[in-house]
Amino acid sequence: MMRCIAAVVVACCGSMASAQVPATLQAFVKVDAPVVVLENVRVIDGTGAPAKENQMVILDHGKITAIGPQTADQLMPTGAKVLDLTGKTVFPGLVGMHEHLFYPLPDGGPGLLPLYGEMADSAPRLYLAGGVTTARTAGSLEPYTDISVKQAIDAGQIPGPKLFLTGPYLEGAPAIGPQLHTLTGPADAARLVDYWSAEGMTSFKAYMHITPDELKAAVDHAHAQGLKITGHLCAVGFKEAAALGIDNLEHGLAVDTEFYSQKKSGVCPGQHPPQAELARMDVEGADIQGTIKNLIAHHVAITSTLAIFESFVPNRPPMSEEMRVRTSLLPDAWGSYAATRAGIAEHEADAIWPTLLKMEMQFERDFVKQGGLLMAGCDPTGYGGVLPGFGDQRNLELLVEAGFTPEEAIHIATQNGAQFLGEDSHLGTIAVGKAADLVVVDGNPAQNIADVEKVDTVFKDGIGYDPKKLIESVRGLMGLR
Ligand SMILES: [Zn+2]
Repeated sequence: MMRCIAAVVVACCGSMASAQVPATLQAFVKVDAPVVVLENVRVIDGTGAPAKENQMVILDHGKITAIGPQTADQLMPTGAKVLDLTGKTVFPGLVGMHEHLFYPLPDGGPGLLPLYGEMADSAPRLYLAGGVTTARTAGSLEPYTDISVKQAIDAGQIPGPKLFLTGPYLEGAPAIGPQLHTLTGPADAARLVDYWSAEGMTSFKAYMHITPDELKAAVDHAHAQGLKITGHLCAVGFKEAAALGIDNLEHGLAVDTEFYSQKKSGVCPGQHPPQAELARMDVEGADIQGTIKNLIAHHVAITSTLAIFESFVPNRPPMSEEMRVRTSLLPDAWGSYAATRAGIAEHEADAIWPTLLKMEMQFERDFVKQGGLLMAGCDPTGYGGVLPGFGDQRNLELLVEAGFTPEEAIHIATQNGAQFLGEDSHLGTIAVGKAADLVVVDGNPAQNIADVEKVDTVFKDGIGYDPKKLIESVRGLMGLR
């Protein structure tokens, strides 16, 4: 594989002098060369295979053109930018599958509506800085802004990940917030799917109060367009949704209401009552194992969102984790987060989330062990504190806490998402011919998964972005814009 490198590079060198980065992005870029050689680097390739030491990876005009063991007599491409990455690790750019471009606005106080603000400036930069080079949004609140942001990123006007956009939430009655449309029935669900797919949305998300009839109409109309539909459901249980043809379920076991003793068909019983009963169930028992088998038989993927679940557990994540994001937050947004976190900590004695988080981890492990497709995403919602990029990194740590190897966790957060999106022929792993979307970190995540936080460079289509510059450029803006 390495022998053909010289030939490939000679063919390319005519355009070697021209910079490939648009002027609008140059302030965020640290590696800008048509051909880049990553030398002496540890590779975690995203397939789940063990890390390989002392490798060389060649990026040529935005693509990976060679990968293999470093040798002393290596033929170096003429004119290439060579980076000695001794002590560093490279893994594929993350494919975040539950992302949003919005974030909860600071608590307005009594009587004011719960609102989410579109973070059109800060979210794309923080995703990219955190190593997320591909992001599927999982529900939109400002769909036209999301579309404009995607167009601006694709045109090289602003930095950000490759976006795969999901339409506005398909939410039944009552809608969970004032920014969501309330469906009036199956015909309305079908109308919205048709409209937003024509506007350019490439996936859909059903939400908590959608009814079985509405979900069926949405699934059929999405599939008729060749598009996929996911759900964070409540009125519809997991097996029922699988039977209706849903492609993906967000969050996992902790939001499945189907085991609740008071469950009425097509009605969301709220979140706490079913969760309180769920916390007394056994993941290894026949009921939950039956759901796992059912979802796998119906080819329903699950998106793991452990970072947002962790934020409901008293005194988690460790404060050190939160201090990393504090300077990215609007001070009022930090204040809201800190106050809610303190409130959760006060109720530690009767908290069910420590149990639910453990059960969710076990559910996800069993789902994968039995052949299910598990993906991951950060879901920057809840009461805040889980931020784009930062939250995606935290997920990797939590997947390892759940019992996956670091290589498996990275596989879940890279190749699996690319596979679900139908993009795995050119995204999701470090392989010849794929896009040069890569994360370089200091240290060795295969030994210490927390090293995924030590991002040195994020390559997207061969352009090396500086995470520090991206983060600094939106300092204090998360929660504002
Ligand atoms: Zn979400």
